[in-house]
Amino acid sequence: MPAFPARLAPQPRSVAIVGGGLVGSLSACFFAKRGFQVDLYEYREDIRRTEHVRGRTINLTLSARGQAALRRLGLERALVAEHGVALRGRMVHHAAGAGAGALTAVPYDPVDNQCIYSISRRYLNEVLLTATEKYPNVRLHFRHKLVAINFKENQMTFQVGEENSQVQRSASLVVGADGAFSAVRRQMMKAPLFQYSQRYIEHGYLELCIPPTADGKFAMAEQYLHVWPRGSFMMIALPNQDCSWTVTLFMSFKQFEALDTTKALLDFFGQHFPDALPLIGTERLIKDYFSTKPSPLISIKCNPYHVGSSVIIVGDAAHAMVPFYGQGMNAGFEDCLILDNLMQQYNEDFSKVLPKYSEIRNKDAEAICDLAMYNYYEMRDLMNHKSFLLRKKLDNALYQIIPKLWIPLYISVTFTSEGYSWCLKNKYWQDKAIRAVLGVFGMIMLLVVVLFIFFFIHAIIETPCKLFIVPEL
Ligand code: FAD
Repeated sequence: MPAFPARLAPQPRSVAIVGGGLVGSLSACFFAKRGFQVDLYEYREDIRRTEHVRGRTINLTLSARGQAALRRLGLERALVAEHGVALRGRMVHHAAGAGAGALTAVPYDPVDNQCIYSISRRYLNEVLLTATEKYPNVRLHFRHKLVAINFKENQMTFQVGEENSQVQRSASLVVGADGAFSAVRRQMMKAPLFQYSQRYIEHGYLELCIPPTADGKFAMAEQYLHVWPRGSFMMIALPNQDCSWTVTLFMSFKQFEALDTTKALLDFFGQHFPDALPLIGTERLIKDYFSTKPSPLISIKCNPYHVGSSVIIVGDAAHAMVPFYGQGMNAGFEDCLILDNLMQQYNEDFSKVLPKYSEIRNKDAEAICDLAMYNYYEMRDLMNHKSFLLRKKLDNALYQIIPKLWIPLYISVTFTSEGYSWCLKNKYWQDKAIRAVLGVFGMIMLLVVVLFIFFFIHAIIETPCKLFIVPEL
């Protein structure tokens, strides 16, 4: 690593990326490709050299928006084709009432059979970090934790390693890609008119595992995201390349606390997930459940995403969301793509690019935060309802007949590049249209019933009269 003087005036065309997670490392590639001098500062050590990585989720789902960003950098094939497990729909595991073990497959896209990909978070991050190193103008600085930032001079203070030594660095542009608890955003919050809101949902998540079968195969149909919707809680499973499944249990912290003994845990699984219990295995379940604490889930909205022409936040730093639409990383990757488009459009003039980015991105980021919240309700509860499955069928049928006019919500979010706010508006429009059609249908039915009653009564009154009329001789 090259030696820096303690303080350094920002070099023109220098970019400092704070955070070397998924979005930070991708963002580094985009700026490097444009020829900027990029310094990436990451709090953790280099995950490619560590055996165990602290942090979240083993795998996540990659969809069209994320793929589009990877494609522009020539990274899509290596990641998706070679390391993703294709998922073509949800497989709903119904509760005991509907017949324990009853399954319903709900395809994501019944027309074009498009899919999303389950992919290892660690592998993805490793590939992206390695991709940054292909550019000679990128320098990676691990074990650098941003502790302070002065926006006037774009001076950043990093705590280095464990010795608590501090260094100062600067850059003409600082990109905050330091996740939901962003230190860059924390500094932005001190400015007047900065809008910020956060919400922890009352539910947390805990990861379990279904191992491969004895002959090394998937224990369940692997082309699906498996869901066990149970009303106020749910469990999902995503396949891994090694034929195991990462199982995530989402429920309230109170429910987690209540399962505090082996018996309570096994009774609970026996009652609600009887088909999953033998696949996980009781011993493994007990070990994994009691050795991990459930993690919280947060949703964050803020505005704007930039400071002047020198600081910007992307990914979870700008818009952390609950994970139920599988869009957090995808939206973060799309941030990088949109930023790159604006750099092209405004000839890399940050004074124009950054405000425009805040302007166009904020409404879409807030829309996906809301949609992600809604999808939790859909996945854990609505999936149980016949009326909901019927609506899905209606949406799919209309999509088959008029694919340009009727794009179901999930398809627009997952398989198109339409703004998330457009997807939300489109859904409202569809709901309204269905309500209107149902309303008209209801009125017609009512009219038919009223007419029927009227003619029936009329016929009854008329008939006795006719009986008493003596026919003329
Ligand atoms: P992060 O991944 O949080 O990376 C931030 C990086 O910054 C980290 O490496 C961190 O060490 C570093 N950092 C933090 N503070 C500092 C500092 N002060 N100085 C220097 N470095 C710092 N998204 C999907 O698209 N699909 C899914 O299926 C999906 N599933 C999910 C499931 C769960 C349970 C959860 C919780 C999230 C899921 N997500 C999913 C969301 C996804 O994980 C995030 O949106 C994504 O990780 C955001 O990437 P990021 O780089 O912005 O932030």
